[in-house]
Amino acid sequence: MRYLNHINGEWVTAAREEYKDNINPATGEILGHVIQSAPEDVDRAVQAAKAAHKSWRLVPAPERGEYLYRIGQLLKERKEQLARTLTQEMGKVLVEARGEVQEAIDMAFFMAGEGRRLAGQTVPAELPDKHAMSVRAPVGVVGIITPWNFPIAIATWKMFPAIVSGNTVVWKPASDTPAMACEMMKIIEEAGLPKGVVNLVYGSGGTVGNALVEHPDVNVISFTGSSEVGRTIAAKGGQLLKKVSLEMGGKNAIIIMDDADLQLALDGVLWSAFGTTGQRCTACSRLIVHRSVQQEVERELVRRAQALTLGNGLDEHVDVGPVINRSALEQIDKYVQIGQEEGATLLSGGQIAKGELLSKGYFYHPTIFTNVSPTMRIAQEEIFDPVLSIIPVDSFEEAIEVNNAVAYGLSSAIYTNNVNRVFRAMRDLDTGLVYINAGTIGAEIHLPFGGTKHTGNGHRDSGLAALDVFTEWKSIYVDY
Ligand code: GLU
Repeated sequence: MRYLNHINGEWVTAAREEYKDNINPATGEILGHVIQSAPEDVDRAVQAAKAAHKSWRLVPAPERGEYLYRIGQLLKERKEQLARTLTQEMGKVLVEARGEVQEAIDMAFFMAGEGRRLAGQTVPAELPDKHAMSVRAPVGVVGIITPWNFPIAIATWKMFPAIVSGNTVVWKPASDTPAMACEMMKIIEEAGLPKGVVNLVYGSGGTVGNALVEHPDVNVISFTGSSEVGRTIAAKGGQLLKKVSLEMGGKNAIIIMDDADLQLALDGVLWSAFGTTGQRCTACSRLIVHRSVQQEVERELVRRAQALTLGNGLDEHVDVGPVINRSALEQIDKYVQIGQEEGATLLSGGQIAKGELLSKGYFYHPTIFTNVSPTMRIAQEEIFDPVLSIIPVDSFEEAIEVNNAVAYGLSSAIYTNNVNRVFRAMRDLDTGLVYINAGTIGAEIHLPFGGTKHTGNGHRDSGLAALDVFTEWKSIYVDY
């Protein structure tokens, strides 16, 4: 299988005939070969998007929404097949892969409806015989750069609001998940979207991503990925006065108070820390636990973590799939060593999983550290893998303080049965997402998704807030 670019309605090769392997992280099997594009290919795609924008912006918004309905319908029909491709390519277990495809379906129908709203305001004018109103205008050509951990859902969080509000798109998907981008592109084609409205360009971040960010005809960049790359995009975007929307890391915590329902809390921690093999930007990587319940929580958590079945996510009995690639395994090993050097206690995991089948893929035992102090590197830096740090605290106030004392601000959660603590936590947890008596993952597409501080730059993906990224407000005054 060869994955090619899709530019101006056609599958095309790139300036150079160079390919990279697409590897199944559970088995090491090569699934296909993905074309590696050059800046010329990005330019070709941008020119196609620019030309298509001339007519796409004039298509009535309800009609633009109709295309999204068709895309949603096709996603729905192919849900199972897409989920299987996703598991094979990225490793998340099938039940989660189905959930992710469902998110893309939900996003299609939600944003399709925006084609019939896209509301502005009409306000009373201050002067007689005057009409005053605001409308949302498309920005133009949008560059979207998406991650491998949610290769279809996050693409739709960006692409669908961009399309419905009259923009055209050049999409650079993550290098590790080309098959999902290809499947999505086929659906877009089948839904009959006019050529050039969405263009797909494969290749590395350094070459394709960079060319997209620097291209003078790309008006918006919407990016989800690492803080390191986000920082570079922000700097370049700033230089070029380009609109940039960034969704980056997290160092999310779950707080368990002494009055919590511990069984419920343990369910939430296990799912948030080790679901998707810890590879969510919302994953729980810190557990802030009241000292009076610490021992009980640790005992039960270790028991449950060790009972998780590792393996190929296509097997419905498997709880935890592989990590994405070899360098992720190395990254975990590095942090396990750092944690031990820092003086934290390794409670569970801490090693690459062995066994005839597991050794073929990239499997790591879910790892738990305890007696972690809030300033240790394992409590501060995003690892993006199944590594959990337990931080004991003595009070609710200390728990909130520890939660907020990191550079990131994506997701946080608290388990407590005290209603006053619930409301204080809602007010004081400094993150874009706050969960009460639920884990840190599983955001729904109807609400804004994103975070404070180093997690983002004020913009949000999904929900109606996403429209703010892809539209400019235009205020219009008519004298009559
Ligand atoms: N949809 C995911 C969640 O709410 C987060 C997406 C991500 O990790 O990038 O858990």
